[in-house]
Amino acid sequence: MNISNIRKTDAKVANLVLKEEKRQREGMELIASENYVSKAVLEALGSVFTNKYSEGYPGKRYYGGQRFTDAVETLAIQRAQRLFGAEHVNVQPLSGAPANMIVYSALLKPGDKVLGMDLSHGGHLTHGHPVTLSAKIYTFIRYKTKADGLIDYQELEETAQKEKPKLMLAGFSAYTRQIDCKRFCDIAKRVGAISMFDMAHIAGLIAGKALPNPVPYFDVLTTTTHKTLRGPRGGMILCKKEFAQQIDKACFPGFQGGPHMNNIAAKAVAFQEALRPSFRAYAKQILKNAKVLELELKKHGFKIMFGRTDNHMVLVDVFGSKGVTGKEAETILDEIGITINKNMIPDDPRGPMDPSGVRIGVPAITTRGMKEKEIKQIAEWINAAIENRANKKIIARLHGEVIMLCKKFPLPC
Ligand SMILES: *Cc1c(COP(=O)(O)O)cnc(C)c1O
Repeated sequence: MNISNIRKTDAKVANLVLKEEKRQREGMELIASENYVSKAVLEALGSVFTNKYSEGYPGKRYYGGQRFTDAVETLAIQRAQRLFGAEHVNVQPLSGAPANMIVYSALLKPGDKVLGMDLSHGGHLTHGHPVTLSAKIYTFIRYKTKADGLIDYQELEETAQKEKPKLMLAGFSAYTRQIDCKRFCDIAKRVGAISMFDMAHIAGLIAGKALPNPVPYFDVLTTTTHKTLRGPRGGMILCKKEFAQQIDKACFPGFQGGPHMNNIAAKAVAFQEALRPSFRAYAKQILKNAKVLELELKKHGFKIMFGRTDNHMVLVDVFGSKGVTGKEAETILDEIGITINKNMIPDDPRGPMDPSGVRIGVPAITTRGMKEKEIKQIAEWINAAIENRANKKIIARLHGEVIMLCKKFPLPC
């Protein structure tokens, strides 16, 4: 990355950028929500669009000088519509969490009930975790998965009939199976609830046609643009026409101020990339890599939660299978240059700060070009590090091997 100007004016920040770049280059990134953008996305992010205030929407702005911001936001919207077949798109949400808050505030009144996925079963913080603002405003109730890893739709329907939620929320950040969109939305219709899908983790797999598209079924969908979708950090809302006005108003002026136009330009660039055939190949390879990771880890004696994976990640019960806690596993793997995160497993008997599981995802290393062969090697390293965690010599050797492999697969940006 060219940082010659930062170097001239700010040696401290330049030094940190270079160090972070080296860390990314030499590390094996297996955090399921992370990815690497292209040079083109990075250029758009660093463009002069960052200088412009554009409160409002294309054709309806508060300030002048919007010829090119209108054009670039319209491009982003149109490309997102083509990617997902959505009736209406808002590309202004600053990230995934604000996108969810905007939808809640557009469609709910304080105190209204939301039926969402239990957090230890894969749901996200922004789906009403007690520490969040949304949990202080709205009432969240929960549904869970069954022992076979699928959502318990019968329990979901019973809870929905009894509680009559205003909003039914599908979506997750640590769940590895597919959701039965039709069944979910039929239940929502029967109880008179609005249906919402937070597809933050799998948006790229949907855009790349590796997973079925939930957009035709749901009233509203939210996503991040920086996970499997491989765009800049940001959020987006897709919805049916009838909710368009409410959603747009709730975003601006309801919740946000001026949109980040450099970020919207970068979203447009990323969506164009996602429309190409090569992105379909990428999404398909993610599924293949995740499947190999699942099967190899199983061979090494790891317990895979939810039965298996249908997407880009696996949730592993490391405490149940190897006697190390999620936090311990995270630390050991960090020592060999493999980055993952500790994660709760369904109804985890351990606490969230030191849970039983880890979450491992392949989108970032798939972007670097790693395939089945490398994934097999990575599964072996994960097992070797955990089994030999007390042996400093082995850990150092493994770290060396991880760096060697990473150097063969350069970052795209
Ligand atoms: C990542 C994620 C979010 C939050 O996105 P941020 O950009 O970090 O605010 C919301 N919902 C789900 C399901 C996610 O996975």
